[in-house]
Amino acid sequence: MELIDTHCHLTFDDLAQDIDGVIERSRQSGVTGWITVGTDLEHNKKAIELAKRFENMYAAIAIHPHDAKTVTADKMRQLRELAQHPKVVAIGETGLDYHYDFSLHEDQRRVFAEHLKIAAECNLPVIIHCRKAFEETIQILDEYRDSVEKVVFHCFSGSAEQAKIVLDKGYYISFTGVVTFKNAEKTRAAAKVVPLDRLMLETDCPYMSPEPMRKQKVNEPALLIHIARFLVELKEMSLTEFAQAVTDTSSTFFGPLRH
Ligand SMILES: [Zn+2]
Ligand SMILES: [Zn+2]
Repeated sequence: MELIDTHCHLTFDDLAQDIDGVIERSRQSGVTGWITVGTDLEHNKKAIELAKRFENMYAAIAIHPHDAKTVTADKMRQLRELAQHPKVVAIGETGLDYHYDFSLHEDQRRVFAEHLKIAAECNLPVIIHCRKAFEETIQILDEYRDSVEKVVFHCFSGSAEQAKIVLDKGYYISFTGVVTFKNAEKTRAAAKVVPLDRLMLETDCPYMSPEPMRKQKVNEPALLIHIARFLVELKEMSLTEFAQAVTDTSSTFFGPLRH
């Protein structure tokens, strides 16, 4: 069995300082592929460097919507350059976060659109971060519909109804440990309607350890297995069958994952 953690932040201090241990524990638990996501230029560069060190590790690069207010034309130019690297398999995470509101909505919308333009130019899939901004996120994606087709809503915590809208657009959905939390009935209802050929798994580590490991302060890719097991029960199928299907989906979405 082989699983891919499609969204982790392995360059963040808590994980980076023990990266060999993190990767070893991950492999032992059957999680043998990683997409490490950079959230600013410094981490985008680090993500590419780290991906060069490990087989089956790739990078996604972007400037997080939280930092939209810091984005300049020069930063976007640098991002565009980094996107040329063969280990970069996606643009993201980008989108809108109206929950924390760390940047003005106007700045977030502008920066999101710029990321979509880069994805279109480089023919890369897009990882969406969306909080309390579902309709506007879909609206902006609609504007780029002809040039940006591969889109995943990461850390999905919307309703089944919203999941259906995402699926109708032809987009993908990925679930974190949130789906295992006791109060996450809505997310579980959404997970039920997502077919495996559109579903991916992610830890979003170092944040949000899944149950029953929620007390583990620093989440890591090895814990992806708990999210997989949880969804296997929800979907009433075997772990092997489930793992094969979601790994195929991840490879198709980000693929070809082979450098
Ligand atoms: Zn996110
Ligand atoms: Zn993230």
